[in-house]
Amino acid sequence: MAEVRIPFNRPYVVGEEFGFIQAAIREGQLSGDGAFTRLCNELIVKETGASAALLTHSCTAALEMAALLCDIGPGDEVIMPSFTFVSMANAVVLRGATPVFVDIDPVTLNIDPGKVAAAVTPRTRAIFVVHYAGFPADMDRLAEIAAAHDLFLVEDAAHAYGSSYKGRPVGSLGDLATFSFHETKNVTSGEGGALALRRADLVARAEIIREKGTNRTSFTRGEVDAYRWVDVGSSFLPGELMAAFLYAQLRHAGSIRQKRLALFERYAEAFRDLEAAGRVGLPHASDDCAGNGHMFYLLMRDRADQDAFIAHMREAGIVTPFHYVPLHSSPAGRRFGRSTGDLPVTNDTAERLVRLPMFAALDADIEVVIEAARASLRDRRAA
Ligand SMILES: *Cc1c(COP(=O)(O)O)cnc(C)c1O
Repeated sequence: MAEVRIPFNRPYVVGEEFGFIQAAIREGQLSGDGAFTRLCNELIVKETGASAALLTHSCTAALEMAALLCDIGPGDEVIMPSFTFVSMANAVVLRGATPVFVDIDPVTLNIDPGKVAAAVTPRTRAIFVVHYAGFPADMDRLAEIAAAHDLFLVEDAAHAYGSSYKGRPVGSLGDLATFSFHETKNVTSGEGGALALRRADLVARAEIIREKGTNRTSFTRGEVDAYRWVDVGSSFLPGELMAAFLYAQLRHAGSIRQKRLALFERYAEAFRDLEAAGRVGLPHASDDCAGNGHMFYLLMRDRADQDAFIAHMREAGIVTPFHYVPLHSSPAGRRFGRSTGDLPVTNDTAERLVRLPMFAALDADIEVVIEAARASLRDRRAA
């Protein structure tokens, strides 16, 4: 197998990380909720317009907190896309509830609001949506459905830090939003995440759930004389070293986004002729959405083209992975979930989509990727 010349992702370091980690060590608090965690929370609130943000050790943790905050329990159903990451479904299954998988829109690859409306039953408790590739889902329509049936609306914004919808920032479009700062995301601390809460009335309980079900956060603020076990919870907070690293990244989130958006535009321009010729599909957000350059994908004609493209690029030393194996057809999805029909767009997308390398330091290597990709598409067309 060819040596990897251009990976799919390479973590980008802004330069201030080490200094902040040293400061955290000097400060003397390495456990969670110290000065750097508070600084991160403030930046996330500023970026999202949420009432509060709580750093977590992953987006997975934030999704588990969201499921607890929505009081999801046995017998409940949660409507979600099948074309997403497993953590969303696990958060629901861990509460004894059933994920109900619905199809995505073929243009945006986000959850299809029409399919969501049709999937609501008396047992439905919440709608969990993903902003795929950093492009927001159709939140106005989803909020209408949620309001009509008194459902929680949760954004999995793992891809979408810094994106916006009709001029409103991702992270305060639903009741709750979850972010990932995993190495593969725009802004990172290796592993990391956050829960953003638009609903101010849920903040006090979120603090308790995040601190093992205790009111320790109130205690730290001097509001109570001792901290006690008051609710269900777990340990969802990261330590200060991770927060110190993340703070450096969050401070530069805007410039990281600009770099990635420039790469996104270059990719889009490079394949536009092939799209016009019907050879590949490209990402298309609706006009009222602003993305964050999280991902650039191509949609091949079929699975054979997808396989051939990935293999050809691998030969050139370039990693271009496919994406989600649909949850509804996965072993655990079949065991724990329920799907509404065949989900043809999800199935079709999964076997046609490939992702191109995308990271802030890709720089001029993007031209190498474009050349290899165009050569692959040309060869395959001739074949
Ligand atoms: C990355 C990702 C997650 C999980 O994030 P972690 O921080 O690794 O737990 C969840 N949902 C989506 C859509 C993701 O892309």
